[in-house]
Amino acid sequence: MSSIRHFRVPKACSYATASFCRIHQAPNTGNALRFLSTTPALRDAKHFAPETKIFRDVEPLREFRRAALLNKRTVGLVPTMGALHEGHLSLVRHAAAENTDVIVTIYVNPTQFGLNEDLASYPKTWETDLRMLHTLDRELASVEGAGRVTAVFAPSTKTMYPTLPPDSSIPGVGSFIEMRPLGQLLEGASRPVFFRGVATVCMKLFNICQPERVYFGQKDVQQTVVIKRLVKDFHLPIGVKIVPTSREPDGLALSSRNVYLGARRRTVGIVLSQALRKAEAQYKAGKRTRGDILWPASDHADQTKMAQDTLEPHKRARFEVDYISLADPETMEELDEVDPARGAILSGAVKMLPVEEPNESEDLGVGGGQIPVRLIDNIVLDPVS
Ligand code: AMP
Repeated sequence: MSSIRHFRVPKACSYATASFCRIHQAPNTGNALRFLSTTPALRDAKHFAPETKIFRDVEPLREFRRAALLNKRTVGLVPTMGALHEGHLSLVRHAAAENTDVIVTIYVNPTQFGLNEDLASYPKTWETDLRMLHTLDRELASVEGAGRVTAVFAPSTKTMYPTLPPDSSIPGVGSFIEMRPLGQLLEGASRPVFFRGVATVCMKLFNICQPERVYFGQKDVQQTVVIKRLVKDFHLPIGVKIVPTSREPDGLALSSRNVYLGARRRTVGIVLSQALRKAEAQYKAGKRTRGDILWPASDHADQTKMAQDTLEPHKRARFEVDYISLADPETMEELDEVDPARGAILSGAVKMLPVEEPNESEDLGVGGGQIPVRLIDNIVLDPVS
């Protein structure tokens, strides 16, 4: 029997001084901080202004936003949980191409992590994140007409959840936004509080930053559908922009969690992307029914799993397929047949299990290979006329 479930019924800041930047209190922006170049080469670089301001609280950011509005500037918002990689930077580049100012938020939102999920171990790389944004901002400074990374918003949880301590339990005491059934399907079936947390924190960030446009990655496809629904159903005057998934050369989608994989799991983790590509090929070849499209994906995952199971424990990387889905692009409801005029979303999730019998000489990744890693990926099947 296939191991794949094709369908499920609803189910702070330590600011170390980097060699090229110093961070200090900005005089006129409450507790906003800014980082400045101190080496002559960077200080004198053409267009090296304005500085990126770092905000911790809502009021100073509101002042900044009001000033931008009065100066007829436009704001593109890029919400992140930090541990930045090229995928995040791609969002910032897209935002800078369409707005004068980019606000990047860095906040690991506790309400989207279930009680048994990896909130405590989620990677935090604040200083590297700032350096990456600083470097990107300098790159943008030399691009004709591009916007700049003018603000980073990195609030505390007390700031984001002022009334109650945030609650990650399923009953959830607090003020939340829920989308049913959208938020309960697929990722939501495995992570019941996830989309409630995402929709709630994004509504807060949108209210605080008042962006013209928000930028989200295609990598988290159900999240993009949730955000579009949030904007539509709550009449938010915001454009939602979706940026293509950034991938490793072999196709693995970039993710902050990939640092936990290590070499063994990294090699096998490509299985999901490969499986989805096989299903996509079926659609491109004219297949339209669920069975016809999905069988090669299930088959590939099953074969890969069996091949790993036959290896000795010190060599293998075991995984579980959570789901492989063929869903409607607006509702994420499972499809028996694709309407070519609407297209569909192929998506999936696999859980890479902890490494067995780790070798001392082996690259085990952050956490010694013992942290389970959930990988998700998707492919949009475009409408065909
Ligand atoms: P995260 O920090 O993981 O919450 O992601 C912040 C934003 O970056 C979300 O909109 C993600 O969809 C997007 N993102 C994460 N990984 C990628 C990627 N590989 N390609 C494009 N966007 C991504």
